[in-house]
Amino acid sequence: MSRLEKVKHFFGIEKLTKYTHDFFDASNIRSSLYVASVVVVLELWMICSTLFFQFVGDLNRSDKWLFTHLLCYSVLLISALVLLIYSILHLKKIVKNQNVWWTIRFVFAVISIAFGIYISYLDYLKGEQFITLMTMTIIVFCFTVWRPIYSIIFLTTSYGVFFYLCNSAIPASYATKVNLSIVLIIILLSAINSYRQKLSEAKKDEQLEQAHDILLKLSISDEVTGIANMNYFRGQSFELINKNGIDIHQYIYLYFDIENFKMLNQKYGFWEGNSFLKKFADLLNQTFEKSLTAHFSNDNFVVLTKDERIKEKVLDICKKLSEYQYDIKLGIKVGAYKPENKEVLPLVACDHARYACNSIKKHYNITYCLYDETMSLRFQKKQYIINNFDSAIKNEYIQVYYQPFVNSQTGKICGMEALARWNDPQFGFLSPVDFIETLEEYYQIHRLDMYIVEKVCQHIESARARGRKIIPVSLNFSRLDFDSLNLAEEVENCLKKYNIDKSDIHIEITESTLSEDDIKLQEELKSFRAHGYALWLDDFGSGYSGLNVLKEYDFDLLKIDMKFLSNFEGNERARQILKNVINLAKDIGMQTLTEGVETQEAYDFLRENGCEKLQGYLFSKPISREELEAKLDAGTFVIE
Ligand code: C2E
Ligand code: MG
Ligand code: MG
Repeated sequence: MSRLEKVKHFFGIEKLTKYTHDFFDASNIRSSLYVASVVVVLELWMICSTLFFQFVGDLNRSDKWLFTHLLCYSVLLISALVLLIYSILHLKKIVKNQNVWWTIRFVFAVISIAFGIYISYLDYLKGEQFITLMTMTIIVFCFTVWRPIYSIIFLTTSYGVFFYLCNSAIPASYATKVNLSIVLIIILLSAINSYRQKLSEAKKDEQLEQAHDILLKLSISDEVTGIANMNYFRGQSFELINKNGIDIHQYIYLYFDIENFKMLNQKYGFWEGNSFLKKFADLLNQTFEKSLTAHFSNDNFVVLTKDERIKEKVLDICKKLSEYQYDIKLGIKVGAYKPENKEVLPLVACDHARYACNSIKKHYNITYCLYDETMSLRFQKKQYIINNFDSAIKNEYIQVYYQPFVNSQTGKICGMEALARWNDPQFGFLSPVDFIETLEEYYQIHRLDMYIVEKVCQHIESARARGRKIIPVSLNFSRLDFDSLNLAEEVENCLKKYNIDKSDIHIEITESTLSEDDIKLQEELKSFRAHGYALWLDDFGSGYSGLNVLKEYDFDLLKIDMKFLSNFEGNERARQILKNVINLAKDIGMQTLTEGVETQEAYDFLRENGCEKLQGYLFSKPISREELEAKLDAGTFVIE
C-alpha cells in the first residue's frame, strides 16, 4: 500500500467496492432501526416524565424551561421516528432512494448532537457532567458505521462547539478539559474501530462470495466457451423435461459437429480455435433463445430446445458460419433426437442425436438428420458390438476369413487377404463394415487388428507344421492402430513369436486414412519398411487424397478400389481411367491389384492392360481357413 493509500485508508476516503457499500448499508439499516427505537422510547419517556413532574410533582420549572425541553425532546423524537420508519421501509425494500436515506441519517445525527450539546450545556451551567452529549455521540457514531473522516469532523466540531459554549459561560476547569478530551478521543477511536471492523468483515465476505461465484461458475460452465458444461446441462434438462405440465413431444435434442474445425485449429492455432468455439457458442445461444445449450466436447455442442423451425435455424447458423473471416470452409452437421417419453435420460438423448449426426458425416450435401427407427436398430447393434467385443474374441466368434487373389497371367493364387468375420450366436452375422467402424469409434480397433495378426500367424505356423505350402497374407490396419500401438514393433514381435517369414505378410493401409501432412504415419510406415515388410495401399481411388499421397508415401503395391469396376461393362471412360491408373502405378514403380473382379470381361481387360494381381468373387469370396484348405486339397485352387 502506498503512503497516499495509507492516508486515504486512515481517513476512510478510499474507493469502496459496490459490495462494501451494500454491506455498510445493510448494517446501517439494521443499526439505525435499533438506535432509532431506543431514542424514540427514551424521548417519549422524557416527555412523559417531564410533564408528570411538572404537573404532579413539585419541581416547578419555568414555562420557558418546559417549552425548550419539550421542544428538544419532540424534535429528536420526530427525527428518530422518521429514521425508524424509513429504516423499516428500506429493510423491506419498499423504498430504495440512497440520497433520501443518507439525508435522513445525516439530519438525525445533526439533531442528536445539537440536542446533546444543548442539554449538556444546560447541565454544565448547573455544574453537572456532560452525559447527554456523550450518550448522543456514542449512539450516533459507535452504533452505526461512518467513514472516519465524517466521525473526525463531526465529533471534533461538536465537542469544540460544546467546549466553546461552556468555556464562554464559565471557564472550564483543568479536570473538565481533560475529561472532555478523553471522551472525545475514546468515542472517536471507537467510531473508527467500528468502521474498520465492518470494512474487514465486508472484505472477507466479498472474497468468500467471489470464491463462491467462481466455484459455482466453474462447476456449471465450460471454461473455453463460457456456456454450460455437460454436467450442468444434464441436470438442467432433466429438471426441464420432468417439470409438471411439460409436453415432452414439443422438445428436441440437437447435437452439433463443426466440420473442418481441426484444420482451423491447425492453421490458426489453439487460441483462435478457442475463440471460434466461443463465437460459435454465442451464435447457438442467439439462435436458440430460451433453450439449454452446452459444450459437449471439442467441436461438439448440444441444445435442448422447443421443436420449432429447427431446419430454418440450422440453415441460419450455416449462413452465419460462412460469413466468418477464415479461408477454411467451415460447416456443421446436426443430429436431432425427439424423445418419445420423459424416461429417456438427457445423456442417452444426446447420444442418439450424436449418432444421427455421425451418420451424415460423409454425406457432403446433408446438414441435418433426425434420429429414426432404423438408426435405433443400428444404434442397438453398435451398443451390442461394444458390449460383446471382449467375449466375442474370447469365445472365438470373431474369426479370420481369407479371400485369395490371383496372378492375372497365370490365374493361380499368389496371396490372400485376411478379413475379420464376426459370427455371433445371439446377434447373427455382423458385417465388418459395421463393427470396424464402431471399434474405431471407441478406440478398440487395435485390439481386433492385433488379434487377427496373431490368428494369421498361428494359421501360417500350423500350415507349415502340416507341411502345407505357405500363401502370403495381406493384413488390414486402421489408421488408429498407429496411435494406439507401436504397431511395427508389435507386428514384428508377433511374427518372431511364431517364426513367420516377413515375405509372407503384407501390410494394407487404406487410402482414405492417409493425408499429406501426417508425419507420424509416414514415420511409422518407414519403420515397417525398415523392418522389411511390403506396404500395400488399399482402396486406392475411394478417398479424397488420391494421387497426392503417392508423392509422400512409398508403397509397393496399389490396390485399386472396386468402384473402378462398377459400370465397367461397355463403359469406355471407366476403362481408360483404369488403364491409366495401372500405367501410372507402373511408372512410379508400383505393382497393381484390382479389387472386386466379378466378371470374365473385367478379368480379361485387366490382364491385357498389365494389372498384376486380381481379387474378387470371380475367383473366390472370403472363406474360412477350413474351406480354403479343402479347396486347395481338391485342386479347385492352385497355388502359384
Ligand atoms: P477391404 O480391405 O477393401 O476388403 C475387401 C472387401 O471387399 C471385403 O469386404 C471383401 O469381402 C469385399 N470383396 C472382395 N471381392 C469382392 C467382389 O468381387 N465384389 C464385392 N462386392 N465385394 C468384394 P469385407 O470383408 O466386408 O471387408 C470390408 C472392409 O473391412 C475391408 O475392406 C477392410 O477395410 C475392413 N476390414 C476387414 N477386416 C478387417 C480387419 O481385420 N481389420 C481392419 N482394420 N479392417 C478390416
Ligand atoms: Mg484390405
Ligand atoms: Mg480394399
